Amino acid sequence: MEMEKLVSLCKRRGFLFQSSEIYGGINGFWDYGPLGVELKRNIKAAWWKDMVTAHDELEAANGAPSTHEMTGLDCTIIMHPQVWKCSGHFDLFCDLMVDCKETNKRYRFDQVRGRWAAAKGKRIFVTTVAEIDEEEAELTRRAMKAFKLRAKDADQLTWDGEAVSLDTLDDTSEVLAPDAKEVGTLTDPREFNLMFKTIVGAMGTEEDASFLRPETAQGIFVNFKNVVDSTRVKIPFGIAQIGKSFRNEITPRNFTFRSREFEQMEIEFFCHPDTSADWYKYWRDRRFAWYQELGLAGQRLQLRDHEPDELSHYSTGTADIEYAFPFLPAGEYGELEGIAHRGDFDLRSHMEGKLDPNSCPLEVERNEKGKPKYKGSGRDLTYRDPVSNEKFTPHVIEPSAGADRATLAFLCEAYTEDEQPDEKGEMQSRVVMKFHPRIAPIKAAVFPLVKKDGMPEIAKDIYRALKKEFPAFYDEGGAVGRRYRRQDEVGTPYCITVDGETLTNQTVTIRDRDTLEQWRVKIDDVVEEISGRVS
Ligand code: ATP
Repeated sequence: MEMEKLVSLCKRRGFLFQSSEIYGGINGFWDYGPLGVELKRNIKAAWWKDMVTAHDELEAANGAPSTHEMTGLDCTIIMHPQVWKCSGHFDLFCDLMVDCKETNKRYRFDQVRGRWAAAKGKRIFVTTVAEIDEEEAELTRRAMKAFKLRAKDADQLTWDGEAVSLDTLDDTSEVLAPDAKEVGTLTDPREFNLMFKTIVGAMGTEEDASFLRPETAQGIFVNFKNVVDSTRVKIPFGIAQIGKSFRNEITPRNFTFRSREFEQMEIEFFCHPDTSADWYKYWRDRRFAWYQELGLAGQRLQLRDHEPDELSHYSTGTADIEYAFPFLPAGEYGELEGIAHRGDFDLRSHMEGKLDPNSCPLEVERNEKGKPKYKGSGRDLTYRDPVSNEKFTPHVIEPSAGADRATLAFLCEAYTEDEQPDEKGEMQSRVVMKFHPRIAPIKAAVFPLVKKDGMPEIAKDIYRALKKEFPAFYDEGGAVGRRYRRQDEVGTPYCITVDGETLTNQTVTIRDRDTLEQWRVKIDDVVEEISGRVS
């Protein structure tokens, strides 16, 4: 599937719009349209239901090591600035960036890629942030210009070696920046903190500076004790949260994949250190299965365990659930969710102060005078087991998912083009969004075959009855085949048609979006029939 087709469908049918589009848009921000909001809400609702509300705490289901409890939270986006100092985000949540002095553009260091070009006894590294294989002609054109070569001298230019990332070079002096005409306009790489800064209160001084949260997880850690003290929840248990997070990404791109404002669905699962390895395996497999159950069933989804050298000292395991998005080069995958064994790193940081993630065993980071660099809360965030009376700092397993990336993956997976016979038996191409019925934005559409003989009235009654249960759509305009195709394109799993036979025997046809199978059901049974299929 070509990504442009999906992007265009998303705009045309109201799944996604560029934010502030009438003012030219703002890079890295997206609005969900009337259908997009339903799709994303369904994904978040499915996650919350499957992970929290429908969770059975009396049984160890889905291969869990033991029974466990699940509960939720909804924390603020702006938190005490000390949260981000102790979590490490204030010092460490950075990307390296380079600036172009000619165009004033800024790039993520690792995303600038290029190849060495040679001519006239000189070598320059010609770069781009686009897909390098597709840019070959453009790279040659820019290299020729930089060497001041005419078209007829094209054979003087030679390319040397494979495409590599700019961060593999020793310095940036012989580099032709992605949008520049002159060589050597890129600055050396510098660190750029990804947190959005804001001022809290009317005084507006730097001391009042706070940050928009770059992840929802910290709200859960700092409320760990509140949850334990206010409920009868016992370890092992998980706290879930869905909410907005903000990252000032240097180069937002690939549609909603890398946005500056996005939503996360995170669980912090607290357990005893002796069982944390088992819980890690449980969450890794459970979360992978969740995407498969909702329709990401094919080869495009993969579970990738991090290599030991990718892990932080405090983590004994991290795995990513990844999807082969169509905008990525063949064979590359993009992260949908990370599942990390975080040990006691987070709770200890909020007790003792910022821990050095590179020291083993973990130690509080200290300044030149040997004092803790950032003081922790000083609160006791340990846990006392009510049965054994053992006191310990719980270990944490963190399945951290992005609601927007999941939505994008479900959109990509659903997009299908096929050919189906129309009423006259002629083959017609159609675009069909094959969403799992649970996440489809509209569950059923109701059509009167013709606008007479009382058919619209019956169809409207069915529509109203369905509407009480879930989003439904009524359409009486145009040939019924066209109406079917309009619903296929937005992924409505069932279309209900009131026809001549309805008037005699009180039945309607139901058509399945994927199999095109049609069957008749009594009007009184329609709501139950559709409800059973979409829940
Ligand atoms: P990446 O390496 O792609 O930047 P990450 O490893 O920094 O992602 P995490 O910090 O683990 O991501 O965040 C957890 C989840 O939040 C990711 O798996 C992703 O689904 C989502 N997420 C993170 N950054 C963004 C973003 N800029 N836009 C949309 N979703 C995001």
